[in-house]
Amino acid sequence: MINQQDYNPSTPADNPVDFLLFENLPIAIYTCDKSGKITSFNKAAESLWGRIPEAGDKWTASRIFTITGEEVMPENSPLARTVASGVRGNVDEIIVQRPNGDRLYVQSHPVPVFNAAGEVTGGINTLIDVTEKRSSENKQAMLAAIIESSEDAIVSKTLEGIITTWNHSAERMFGYSEAEIVGRSIMTIIPDNRRQEEDLIISKIKKGEKVEHYETYRLTKYNTEIPVSLTISPIKNKNGQVIGASKIARNITKQKDAEESLQRYANNLETLNTVNNMISEHLDVQEILQQVTDVTTQVTGAAFGAFFYNKVDERGESYMLYTLSGAPREAFEKFSMPRNTAIFHPTFSGEATVRSDDITKDPRYGKSAPHYGQPKGHLPVVSYLAVPVISKSGEVIGGLFYGHPQRGKFTVHHEHLIESVAKQAAIALENATLYEEIRKLNSKKDEFIGLASHELKTPVTSLSGYLQIINRRLPEGDANKSFIEKALVQINKLTGLISDLLDVSKIETGQLPLSFTQFDLVQLVNEVTELIQYSASTHVLRLNSTVDNLSVTADRQRIEQVIINLLSNAIKYSPGASAVDISVSADGNKALVSVRDFGPGINKGQQERIFTRFYRVEDMAVHISGLGIGLFISKEIIERHNGRLWVESEVDKGSVFFFEIPLD
Ligand code: ADP
Repeated sequence: MINQQDYNPSTPADNPVDFLLFENLPIAIYTCDKSGKITSFNKAAESLWGRIPEAGDKWTASRIFTITGEEVMPENSPLARTVASGVRGNVDEIIVQRPNGDRLYVQSHPVPVFNAAGEVTGGINTLIDVTEKRSSENKQAMLAAIIESSEDAIVSKTLEGIITTWNHSAERMFGYSEAEIVGRSIMTIIPDNRRQEEDLIISKIKKGEKVEHYETYRLTKYNTEIPVSLTISPIKNKNGQVIGASKIARNITKQKDAEESLQRYANNLETLNTVNNMISEHLDVQEILQQVTDVTTQVTGAAFGAFFYNKVDERGESYMLYTLSGAPREAFEKFSMPRNTAIFHPTFSGEATVRSDDITKDPRYGKSAPHYGQPKGHLPVVSYLAVPVISKSGEVIGGLFYGHPQRGKFTVHHEHLIESVAKQAAIALENATLYEEIRKLNSKKDEFIGLASHELKTPVTSLSGYLQIINRRLPEGDANKSFIEKALVQINKLTGLISDLLDVSKIETGQLPLSFTQFDLVQLVNEVTELIQYSASTHVLRLNSTVDNLSVTADRQRIEQVIINLLSNAIKYSPGASAVDISVSADGNKALVSVRDFGPGINKGQQERIFTRFYRVEDMAVHISGLGIGLFISKEIIERHNGRLWVESEVDKGSVFFFEIPLD
């Protein structure tokens, strides 16, 4: 709208074309007189202000602000200053605020208007709305700020793999500055062995696909590889064409470290568990040490591992290599090892663990005669780990040693793991040593039993011979005869005990002789039952055989010994009962003999053990004499016949002993 009366230079009446042009110009334009009163304005100006100027408006029809947000009073507006100075003003950017509060970024182009005399009469101002441009610039600046401040490396590249942008974090992560890397190939940060990954990524990007959370490794300027998680997205132009890719890389070293330490923890537990299991399974020193050395060499990634005993020979040297893993024994055997060298000393003295990334750089290294370092031909050792194995009592039993020809192979985690294993190994070794001692004592005992029973047998036999002669020479009715007979009964018992002991000793040395003949087992059981019944006044022996005869090929005397043992036990261990049942039968191709008593029985826990040497059920042993070897010998005899001897028993009900041997 135009204030016709004030519009001076060319009124619409004067020039209708000018008027139309002015009115419909898509750019806001208005004029004012020298006092600032708005004299004319077009439609675009009205819509920019969001109002129609009123009579009191000077220089501008809206509130205006600087770009930084301070209000500009109308008398200081760009147009006012231009009219005041009479000089065409600079293009100023201001903010125009509409009555509804909307704010627009506007470029103001004020120009002074002169009369014919050259005096300033007013001004024309053109206002160009640049809000859109401004806000997209702002957005871009914001985006750039976000990219710059991101913790993740954000990089963009062309489809040819040329880096086009590179943020701050990328610089921090990979070491290259933006200036150094932009324009270079993305291959610069891809390790050689992963280059084919890039082809794959690019082929996906070209198809417009995104690659998300791809875990891989990238190379820094300093040639170290870092684990990263990549998200790569295609960059498209306005027409939707893929023109490049943006890549967000997150450094996952910490996450990887955490994963690794968790994994390591699990592995360590497993190792300790394995070591623990095999240690508790074995009592053999050699086996324990071998297994410990094998497992630990494997988990530490050592080229070889060894256990050395801490024993000193007569020359004061200790080099008792016990076990070795990862290298042949000869690799060590030819060297003597003065354990007093500064390197080995802390281990053998139990002082401390020694771990070195490069032992050849250790100040203690290479100082000791005769080799001054590793002897020629020795396995090359650079990485070194040695852990003392110390017993509970503080004695240094030995040391676990690990080596690798490359540097930096053993970590503090390995050190801790081996220290734990060393503790376990020490306990196991102590147990094994104790066991070994017990075994030695046992074999001494066996030796003694063999010797003693052998030595006793001769005098007892001759004693028995002399007594029999005396007995025969004494006239019938002599009062001394009954004493001699009593002595002979005792001598017989003694002979029985001695021969049982001798049997045990023969079994231990695998020398119990058997002589096989064919005989009738039913008849044998009959005879033995009669014989025992003869001397047993307390019990009735009830024999029940379902067959008339059973032919077996066996050692008759030894089988007799077994039956006597079972029958005497049945009587001996059922003092309150009055009968024993014996049965003989055929069971398939086996002969089966059973002896049942009605005594106190044997509880489950003892049933297996009564067949072992010298084992006696304690509460019975107090009242009833015996050596605890009858069943041991019987079982051995029956098993030597390819048979089986066992017991079925219930406490307070009695026991049944069975044996079976093959029939002919
Ligand atoms: P010993 O009778 O000399 O002790 P054995 O080897 O014959 O030796 O028996 C071992 C142990 O088995 C006995 O000490 C006893 O505790 C137990 N035993 C053997 N036979 C019986 C039985 N019939 N009833 C209960 N316990 C028995």
